Amino acid sequence: MKEGSHVIVLPFPAQGHITPMSQFCKRLASKGLKLTLVLVSDNPSPPYKTEHDSIAVVPISNGFEEGEERSQDLDDYMERVEASIKNSLPKLIEDMKLSGNPPRALVYDSTMPWLLDVAHTYGLSGAVFFTQPWIVSAIYYHVFKGSFSVPSTKYGHSTLASLPSFPMLNANDLPSFLCESSSYPYILRTVIDQLSNIDRVDIVLCNTFDKLEEKLLKWVQSVWPVLNIGPTVPSMYLDKRLPEDKNYGFSLFGAKVAECMEWLNLKQPSSVVYVSFGSLVVLKEDQLIELAAGLKQSGHFFLWVVRGGEKNKLPENYIEEIGEKGLIVSWSPQLEVLTHKSIGCFLTHCGWNSTLEGLSLGVPMIGMPHWADQPTNAKFMEDVWKVGVRVKANGDGFVRRGEIVRRVGEVMEGEKVPKRIVSFVKMTVRKYDVVSTKIPKSIVVFNRTPCPSFSDF
Ligand code: UDP
Repeated sequence: MKEGSHVIVLPFPAQGHITPMSQFCKRLASKGLKLTLVLVSDNPSPPYKTEHDSIAVVPISNGFEEGEERSQDLDDYMERVEASIKNSLPKLIEDMKLSGNPPRALVYDSTMPWLLDVAHTYGLSGAVFFTQPWIVSAIYYHVFKGSFSVPSTKYGHSTLASLPSFPMLNANDLPSFLCESSSYPYILRTVIDQLSNIDRVDIVLCNTFDKLEEKLLKWVQSVWPVLNIGPTVPSMYLDKRLPEDKNYGFSLFGAKVAECMEWLNLKQPSSVVYVSFGSLVVLKEDQLIELAAGLKQSGHFFLWVVRGGEKNKLPENYIEEIGEKGLIVSWSPQLEVLTHKSIGCFLTHCGWNSTLEGLSLGVPMIGMPHWADQPTNAKFMEDVWKVGVRVKANGDGFVRRGEIVRRVGEVMEGEKVPKRIVSFVKMTVRKYDVVSTKIPKSIVVFNRTPCPSFSDF
């Protein structure tokens, strides 16, 4: 694609999708392309900030009227978003053409595969962007093809399933939607349909890196024009440098950066457990209370992201009781936090961005997956990449405080996991780090054979 070409990037409206796709935008901008980042929003003028003049941010409606309460029903929400994008995007493209700024390509989120037809109808190339790893996409693909049957569970025991290039999997290792089909029929259809038209896509982008999923990569590259463009963690963090602009990035939430960093600055190296479950997970009250007790009982310092209303579920006087031992915030500058030398481990829900961030920044992890692709990411994190441990839950998915204490102790006081993760990062992420803005413009990043280069659009 020629310098100055115009590309539209359209993530699904969730932080875990906006973050990697906006980072990818910056990378394309640094290669001389003009970008329009379309953000589906219920706020007509969101406070997004970009340091690139060549990235325009255009908000479009999520389908809810002003003042209308946003639905808590995910299926309903996703259907509204689909209808709204189908309504607004064609007009946006036509307006761009009329204003002499015609887009050449649409980079769209894999959870909205119907955008490929919109791109092709309006003469644009279509590049699908997977914000999940191949280990997850491959499972969905096999389900879509009917070549994989989900293991069944009985009395808390699961049968095992085998897939090429995978360890044996049981029901708890699979993306949760496959086992919760009745609760989220639209989401189940959406995740499986992600790969339904992949044969017609012009290029397939994935936020992962080659070494991490080597075995699967051979297979996916033999069938589709795949480019792994991850990790999208900016290289300044990999180099342990912090951005001067504290509003760097596109966040839907405001973080109290100074509060977190000042607190961490007072702590010894590797002495703090960072706890975060991403932007969507809502823990049930009894689980939140159990986790709170486990963290307190562990005796370690902890920085815990407890979002919005969840704070009300904490035990009475908890914040006073933990005192200096813990800092609770409603949103953190996660990359800055994970880069900080005081962090000893990351208790995470294993959302794909968080997993990649922990992995890229060399922080050992304790996986406490909740739903979606998190169980599969956690399985690989513990058993294949061996960069952390996963908490064991009861049959009903409940994690007891004793298990939290045990796992925190294992990672904070043991030696096995930290040593492994440091060598893993050195061996893999560094080699495959293509995020650097220092790369001269003349070098095309996307040119690893046998993949097509971006210029093949
Ligand atoms: N994040 C953050 N501050 C927080 C919690 C999360 O900046 O307090 C960021 C995190 O760095 C990651 C994203 O939000 O990039 C969450 O994405 P992930 O895929 O891990 O989880 P999801 O929110 O999709 O469940």
